[in-house]
Amino acid sequence: MDTRTKEAVRYLGYGRHAVDDYTLALIGEAFEELDLLAARRIVYRIFDLTLKGQDCIEIGNLCIRSRGLGRNLNGCSKAAVLGATLGIEIDMYMKKLSITDMAKAVVVQACAAALLEDYLDSCQLEIEEEADRQGLYLRPRFSPGYGDFPIQHQEEILRMLDAAKKIGLTMTGSSMLTPTKSVTAVIGMSRRKEPCHRKGCEACKMTDCPYRR
Ligand code: SF4
Repeated sequence: MDTRTKEAVRYLGYGRHAVDDYTLALIGEAFEELDLLAARRIVYRIFDLTLKGQDCIEIGNLCIRSRGLGRNLNGCSKAAVLGATLGIEIDMYMKKLSITDMAKAVVVQACAAALLEDYLDSCQLEIEEEADRQGLYLRPRFSPGYGDFPIQHQEEILRMLDAAKKIGLTMTGSSMLTPTKSVTAVIGMSRRKEPCHRKGCEACKMTDCPYRR
């Protein structure tokens, strides 16, 4: 089973239970469709970062109050701020399925979430190379809405990145991203090397790490 299939199975709530062949076939079919439909796009910029106290973080003109993010970014001097999307076609397809085939809509929803994570992991390789050229190491991505990082910061992030113009990524009044299969995130960059897992702290074995989110 490849990584994205494993992720989709997890999103579907199978946990440690074995997934049946029928569901696996549906997942395979969903990924084939999504691979054709997805218009993967990303925009990111690297900013200077200043930590003021334990919970005040300045990234470019962005000023964030979050203990969780502050802990994760401790020791970082720069941060990559990113917005990424799978495009509006996926939303249209999921909307259509929610009327015609609810069971498949659930599977496609899980696969689209896994596809977005997979896409971000591959984009992170490029950011990692850029950090490497500056002698910096990446921390795991941290998104608005995660822990005490206020979701309202998404609006400023989209503006900083000119995301509407560059990749067609916008936000509704209730801070929902449009297209829905999209994400914004901050990735800390530090001179201190941590054995960070690309999949994030949840997949990392360093349970006593002080930067764990
Ligand atoms: S727990 Fe692992 S992935 Fe998370 S910050 Fe620490 S080393 Fe990096």
